[in-house]
Amino acid sequence: MPVPATDLITAFRARGMKITPQRQLLCSLIEEAHDHPTVETLHLRAMQKMPTISLKTVYTTLTELAEFGLIRLVPLGTGSLRVDPDPTPHAHLVCRDCGSIIDQPLEPNLAPAPAQAEDLGFIVEERDVIYRGRCAACAKKSAAQISEEGDVGGHA
Ligand SMILES: [Zn+2]
Ligand SMILES: [Zn+2]
Repeated sequence: MPVPATDLITAFRARGMKITPQRQLLCSLIEEAHDHPTVETLHLRAMQKMPTISLKTVYTTLTELAEFGLIRLVPLGTGSLRVDPDPTPHAHLVCRDCGSIIDQPLEPNLAPAPAQAEDLGFIVEERDVIYRGRCAACAKKSAAQISEEGDVGGHA
């Protein structure tokens, strides 16, 4: 579950950090960011409310919250870090065509790390589970395209 904005703000206060208007704004935008926006997209949304806010401030604030363990910054291979307001472990379904991202619960019985990692003395700190493919809408579209091509008269 995403962490409410009030708890994000409290986290800064609890660490003796100032509650700046920028941090306050970003916390409320993060709470509403159910679509895994890129850091740049979140910056654009912030600029609509506060035109002077810099991308650097957005990055810094997001990194701090990720370090607190309250949000996740996920590299989904779509070109930029995605902001995920839900810090609890879950998998992502990523559409290759439209880039949409769907949250998916992780298999509860999936081991947190392969046994070999432990044998190697490797300490696993986080796990990203990404399934790539096509969302229902895009799969439908490409199926329609294929049948259209078929109608035209086959392939060489
Ligand atoms: Zn899609
Ligand atoms: Zn997610």
